[in-house]
Amino acid sequence: NEVKVPKENLLGDATGGFYYLMNMLAQERLTNACGAVAGAEAALQVTIDYVRERKAFDRPISHFQNTRFKLAEMRTQIDVAQVFVDRCVMDHNQKKLTPEVAAEAKLFTTELLGRVVDEGVQLHGGWGYMWEYPICKMYANARIQRIFAGTSEIMKEIISRGMKL
Ligand SMILES: Cc1cc2nc3c(=O)[nH]c(=O)nc-3n(C[C@H](O)[C@H](O)[C@H](O)COP(=O)(O)OP(=O)(O)OC[C@H]3O[C@@H](n4cnc5c(N)ncnc54)[C@H](O)[C@@H]3O)c2cc1C
Repeated sequence: NEVKVPKENLLGDATGGFYYLMNMLAQERLTNACGAVAGAEAALQVTIDYVRERKAFDRPISHFQNTRFKLAEMRTQIDVAQVFVDRCVMDHNQKKLTPEVAAEAKLFTTELLGRVVDEGVQLHGGWGYMWEYPICKMYANARIQRIFAGTSEIMKEIISRGMKL
């Protein structure tokens, strides 16, 4: 308030800030989705490295069926998410990405990231709770993804509004 900005420093229309923000939200959410899939992939990779190395009951914990099944679930879900996000990027490049589909991408990938980092911590056991291990920081950092750029609940609002229920 009460700040004078020289005309030559004005970007766009001074009364259009909200419109500009709304206009870029689909792109911002697509960026979140790309980051979430990349984050999930990184969390999976550090977890794979760890379970190969860590031994319990005289064998690497990667040999336990529970570990293998958890990693298989993560692999599958990340691969499926990647295909959807790739399609969204192509739609965006053709200026066809709708707010609803961008919201689907953000909702799905950030919830997926949350599940992957949580399972990653679990498979690290106690070390997963220690800052020295990357999965610990990944877990902490992932939590904001379901909140900023619109919470998961708001994404569901946008998606369901588009369904004209
Ligand atoms: C690290 C960080 C970086 C950020 N960066 C930016 C930024 O660069 N630019 C920017 O503009 N903002 C930014 N934000 C703000 C962020 O977008 C908001 O925090 C977020 O949108 C949630 O809004 P809020 O905090 O007011 O929570 P609230 O709106 O108070 O939400 C609290 C809870 O109520 C739920 N809720 C609210 N409304 C509804 C509803 N209609 N139906 C159902 N549930 C609902 C929410 O889902 C949430 O669970 C950032 C926040 C953080 C923490």
